[in-house]
Amino acid sequence: MARNRIQFGKRLSLSAFQERYGTEEQCRQVVVAWRWPNGFMCPACGGHDHAIVGKRRLYLCHGCRKQTSVIAGTVLENSLVPLTKWFQATWLITQSKNSISTLELSRQIGVKWDTAWRLRQKLASVMAEVEARRSFKGRIEMDDAVLGGEKSEAEGGKRVRGGANKVPFVVAVETTAEGRPRRVLLHPVERHDGKSIEAMAHEKLTAGTHVVSDGLGCFRAVTRAGATHTPIVSSRAPEQPEKIPALKWVNTVLGNLKTAIAGTHKAIWRPYVGRYFAEFQFRFNRRHDLPRLFSSLLAAAAGARPRTHADIRLA
Ligand SMILES: [Zn+2]
Repeated sequence: MARNRIQFGKRLSLSAFQERYGTEEQCRQVVVAWRWPNGFMCPACGGHDHAIVGKRRLYLCHGCRKQTSVIAGTVLENSLVPLTKWFQATWLITQSKNSISTLELSRQIGVKWDTAWRLRQKLASVMAEVEARRSFKGRIEMDDAVLGGEKSEAEGGKRVRGGANKVPFVVAVETTAEGRPRRVLLHPVERHDGKSIEAMAHEKLTAGTHVVSDGLGCFRAVTRAGATHTPIVSSRAPEQPEKIPALKWVNTVLGNLKTAIAGTHKAIWRPYVGRYFAEFQFRFNRRHDLPRLFSSLLAAAAGARPRTHADIRLA
């Protein structure tokens, strides 16, 4: 019995999801609770007295007579997409282990590809904002990696040739002192050099962090940002950094990331890589509580400002 409870508790099942968020009214109630935890507050005058009017369930403020909807002024603001579809998209994006392609997303929630793409980019931009505020501390395994280089027409419809679509990045895994993985950072850089590594360390690492990396020289630069550094040079397998036990988790995460991208997205157009990284990072860093992962993304979206077309189109 106890074991079953843990298993069911870990993932929000489709039927549990439908039971809780199957109707527009159920979703609306959830957003109301996030947005106005202490009851309705008029965004124009701060008043509390109101009536709910009309088919669209608008809030009419008795103080200033202005009308507002529960999603006005949030990322969910989009009259064409019902809340149930926002909830479904969020559920699919957060509960999938290897992410979900925009095409699959559009089929599952029953909207056009363009609509699914916009919705996804809006949610991903919220995840990017939330993850950008995160800093890392303790023991950190760090490695350099390059994404892509293959032809990409997966996003934006434009064809990009070879090297032009390559994205160098740093992958870092914060672990416990015993070496268990805690949180991950995927950080695109201009190139793998001291200057970029130092800038990243200043931005993302708390002073006193201990970085473990392979022998690549640029990682020494973390010490200029107040971190300590242990380069591990394996004499047994210099060409196989993945065989270094101290870098086990950073290599596991990198493997999972590449599998997710190759299996789901095929290739990602360079301007959007940061958002896909944010999506992966957001999911990984909340992997121990999948139901909460779903609600924390929706709550963040309900608390964030709307995105315009120009905000989400990066190229
Ligand atoms: Zn008012």
